[in-house]
Amino acid sequence: MTHLRGNASCFCVACNSSSAPSRRQFLCTTATSAVAASVMAGTIAGTARAQQVAAGRAILIKGGCVLTLDRAVGDFERADVLVERGKISAVAPNIDAPDAEVIDAAHMIVMPGLVDTHRHMWQGILRNVLPDGSLDDYIALVQKTFGARYTPDDVYAGDYFSALGAIDSGVTCILDWSHIHNTPEHTDAAVKALNDSGVRAVFGYGNAQTADGRWWEAEGAKYPGDIARLRKQYFSSDDQLATLYLAAPSGSPEQILPTFKAARDVGARITIHVGVGERGRVGLLEKLNAEGALKSDTTYIHCCTLNDTEWKLIRDTGGTVSIASYVETLMGHGNPPIQKAIDIGVRPSLSVDVETSVPNDFFAQMRTVFSLQKKEVWARRLAGDKNPPKFLTVREVLEFATVEGARANGLERKAGTLTPGKEADIILLRTDRLNVMPMNNAVGAVVTSMGPQNVDTVLIAGKVMKRNGQLVGVDFARLDRLAGEARDRLYANAGVKNTRI
Ligand SMILES: [Zn+2]
Repeated sequence: MTHLRGNASCFCVACNSSSAPSRRQFLCTTATSAVAASVMAGTIAGTARAQQVAAGRAILIKGGCVLTLDRAVGDFERADVLVERGKISAVAPNIDAPDAEVIDAAHMIVMPGLVDTHRHMWQGILRNVLPDGSLDDYIALVQKTFGARYTPDDVYAGDYFSALGAIDSGVTCILDWSHIHNTPEHTDAAVKALNDSGVRAVFGYGNAQTADGRWWEAEGAKYPGDIARLRKQYFSSDDQLATLYLAAPSGSPEQILPTFKAARDVGARITIHVGVGERGRVGLLEKLNAEGALKSDTTYIHCCTLNDTEWKLIRDTGGTVSIASYVETLMGHGNPPIQKAIDIGVRPSLSVDVETSVPNDFFAQMRTVFSLQKKEVWARRLAGDKNPPKFLTVREVLEFATVEGARANGLERKAGTLTPGKEADIILLRTDRLNVMPMNNAVGAVVTSMGPQNVDTVLIAGKVMKRNGQLVGVDFARLDRLAGEARDRLYANAGVKNTRI
């Protein structure tokens, strides 16, 4: 296990011998520390301790309603999924695997884990801090006030809580759009938190935060050049749980182009916010295209106020799109371009963006795009449009949240569907709960009625992360105490009074 800066910002049990509880003692992901956490837990409500599956043993998920989301494999009213060496080896009714650990999936929907393509995870300790704010309010408070004062420990806590929250709610793969790299120590802390959480993380390495927003003048920051170190130190293989992106800044082509080059020099894909509010109406993608900078390795986020030429450039260069419809509606980015993307021939992925204002509930993201697209079509019909677009279906929305997410995160060969040969990122959703029972339509239940409370079991790369509705090896009482400590430290450093109301 690698520890940070001589243990200075390591939270794990192994780094702490004091009997007094401290925020440095709650994190446990190695086998040894997981056992320690389990021993300390004790007080988890309900005492329904999550069940561990022995490492290396095959897992048979038995008798569930299986939505593979792979159109060639199809769906099954009742089938089994066999997981061997972290990968899906078979999906079929009545698989015989006598040596496998069995997970009973009766009264469950078995499907691929949800995939988020854009979340600023360092803000995981600032949840709900700005429920009524606009995008300008967000930049002033979250980025310039809090972000400029973040310590590496704060980054670690934010990323870690955000990652655990994602896993708990059924998100198995998430792109951390990480623009908090005030120093390389901040970067190390973010990467460590993602690795420690066990989520399939796509680390989007981004700029620093400063009090005046001039990130390029941040003292101590090494963006974007430090990506070469990251590639070597943390992301030397594609055959690992965490992979590397570059998160390109908002700004002029002169600011953006060197970051694209830094990414491509180390073979990292790129993610960038574009088409955001009035400032997104500057034809940025046309300018970048004139420099030959638009390629299929890039995900474009929001895209609310792009012009038609820019949309065609995304499509024609093979780019991918991430729509964060809830926040776009809430904070003034512009109309979520769901129909626009469909019209142009781009299938979007979905994202939460900021937990400062948005729930981490990915089911809410699905419902938001579903209802907004229908609203737009109904409005056109009512206005007399004789050739309105087709309504989105729940299956298409579920594909946005899985298949298209994996594609935008550069992981379509590994995740997004329950296809034999892919890695076993699998969620089991309970259908015997009062919000969905009796089940009549599995895809409809997931998209229109379910929520994180239905997430019973989560596997990532074949490892059981959640079982029987409980995260495995996590001490909630301790997490709660340590989240509060991280928050209070941050508020004090930033000089912000926290009334809690
Ligand atoms: Zn964002």
